[in-house]
Amino acid sequence: MDQHGFAKDAIDQVSTGLFIDGEWVDASSGATLAVENPATGEELRQVADASASDGRAALDAAVAAQPSWGATSPRDRSQLLWRLFELIQRDKEHLAAIMTSEMGKPLAEARGEVDYGAEFIRWFAEEALRIEGDYVTPPDGKTRAVIRRRPVGPCLLITPWNFPLSMATRKLGAALAAGCTSVIKPAALTPLTTLKLAELIQEAGAPNGVVNVLTTASSGKVMGPLIASGLARKLSFTGSTEVGRQLCAQASETIMRTSMELGGNAPFLVFADADLAAAVDGAMVAKMRNMGEACVAANRFHVQASVADEFADRLADRMGALRVGNGLDDGVDVGPLIDEKAVDKVAELTEDTLAGGGRLLCGGNRIGGPGHFFAPTVVADVAPDARVTTEEVFGPLAAIIPFDDEDEAIAAANATPFGLAAYFYTSDLDRSWRVGEALQAGMVGLNTGLVSNPALPFGGVKQSGLGREGGHLGIAEYQDVQYVISPR
Ligand code: ADP
Repeated sequence: MDQHGFAKDAIDQVSTGLFIDGEWVDASSGATLAVENPATGEELRQVADASASDGRAALDAAVAAQPSWGATSPRDRSQLLWRLFELIQRDKEHLAAIMTSEMGKPLAEARGEVDYGAEFIRWFAEEALRIEGDYVTPPDGKTRAVIRRRPVGPCLLITPWNFPLSMATRKLGAALAAGCTSVIKPAALTPLTTLKLAELIQEAGAPNGVVNVLTTASSGKVMGPLIASGLARKLSFTGSTEVGRQLCAQASETIMRTSMELGGNAPFLVFADADLAAAVDGAMVAKMRNMGEACVAANRFHVQASVADEFADRLADRMGALRVGNGLDDGVDVGPLIDEKAVDKVAELTEDTLAGGGRLLCGGNRIGGPGHFFAPTVVADVAPDARVTTEEVFGPLAAIIPFDDEDEAIAAANATPFGLAAYFYTSDLDRSWRVGEALQAGMVGLNTGLVSNPALPFGGVKQSGLGREGGHLGIAEYQDVQYVISPR
């Protein structure tokens, strides 16, 4: 069977209901929402469209399951995560085909995301066993205290469309390891991957109500009341800064714990002393992974003037050679963008770079067809005040802005309200420390275009977010701290 047939079968077999309290149910209203393939515009499946009352049923199930799940042994939680890790690996091809179909990324990248997503589950299977506390004697010696960590309680997990599997596992792995139950709400554009994941969670043996999945076209109407209810004690969100701001405001009403992984505007700096070939390799990854639809994607390239033309030409050679098409087809490097609005945004920002005096080296155009395609684009000599310096591209546009010296490069890199990822290339050791420490970003790639790693604390500073996911800090987001003090 070819990849298209395999993907169709995988999609036809996915459960499309709501997963509440261990059962697959229809939306109480009977409503469904359509999921489309962004490469073809075709409808893939209809899935349940939850209402506020379905949302409440899901949260009630999570609340009811919390005491017993929170009391399980670390070994039991770890074993569940191990089984889930193995099931994700077993169904890697299915998950990848579903992801490519509903989201657009080429199959090779979707397989990469399955590995990355599964790794969070494995990481937290191990972290579940390492939840530690402290024994403290305060300075006057008159008391002693035990400090312990316990599950924060039922969680609401809201995930975006660009990494449908790994954004769910990054939250869910930590929540399960800490002993928290949850309600996950995937993006309406890409619910099928999460539904497949829910099947695997069920097969792995998660007790009823420990994980619940809500698909809905009315995210605000369904999640708002759940946040307001005060029954959930934690909200973890990955998505736009705009929506994150609203959710923080809502969560403040019940002083709910939040983790926010929001927008970025990552600078990619290339100094004249850098290995240019390595910088171009890194730029391809930082720019083009996921078609540029990543919050850590390089949004703008600041390149030292003496090497700017050479870097731009080399990057344009590579970008211009990429094959754009349906991610299920062999040999495709770049899939469609998620929707036409995303294509409009890249087109608009490209026009803006050209209007400001930029030189188009490759691409620059929409690619017709039923899908949402834009050609990989490189623009050199972009003005330092172009809109790409302040707005997120989320697409295949590489805008190159020349700079003269290090201070100018650092100032330009930091001139944004965002601070998620930053990248820089240099072969000078002193400069590596100086620039790395000066960059206002939660994650800095030094001579690499890839910063994400499940063992490291992913997250941003400034308006890019609050909290960290993955690494040793990831589980702490799902834990409260309590101490018990007593006289000696
Ligand atoms: P993106 O730019 O990735 O689409 P969004 O912030 O719009 O980012 O969406 C990210 C996630 O947040 C999606 O699951 C979306 O359905 C959800 N979402 C959007 N608006 C709200 C809201 N008002 N309340 C709760 N969830 C929301």
